[in-house]
Amino acid sequence: MHAEAQKSGVNLTIVSATRNNDYQKGIWEKKWNTKAAAYKVPLTQENKVAIAKDILKFSSMPGTSRHHWGTDIDLNDLEPEYFQKGPGKKVYDWLNKNAAEYGFCQTYTSKSWGRQGYEEESWHWSYMPLSDNYLKEYIKQVKLEDICCFAGSDVVKSLDVINVFVEGINPGCGKI
Ligand SMILES: [Zn+2]
Repeated sequence: MHAEAQKSGVNLTIVSATRNNDYQKGIWEKKWNTKAAAYKVPLTQENKVAIAKDILKFSSMPGTSRHHWGTDIDLNDLEPEYFQKGPGKKVYDWLNKNAAEYGFCQTYTSKSWGRQGYEEESWHWSYMPLSDNYLKEYIKQVKLEDICCFAGSDVVKSLDVINVFVEGINPGCGKI
């Protein structure tokens, strides 16, 4: 796909790919600590839900990211604006037209059709021949109580993170 895109003057660059649980915990807790600093301690349950929801616009809780699977990549940039004009739009248009031919699907598309979970991510693409099965197995094997042991993990249940975030994908990216 990379070689084919280059022929059209589109340079696909992976900016993030596989991330294990510890790495994701690092990302999550860095964001958590920054946001939590704006609140009085001890944090109430309501504060915790607000902080988690804010992080969950674009970042996963450890244990819930598709980046754990080795099947998903972030391409070129992590800002929505990049993909809206100029070279970024050229990249996005090329992916929309051609990525499916190589098995890739944009997991987090617009939420206007009723998808739940993360905000739209133009950069996040999933290799469906593998990830479709990972998702099915995830749903079968992972329970909310398995998602634990990081800052704010006591809001996992109230946010129903498997149903809302793990399953909240573009319906065009395989069936759940
Ligand atoms: Zn991603």
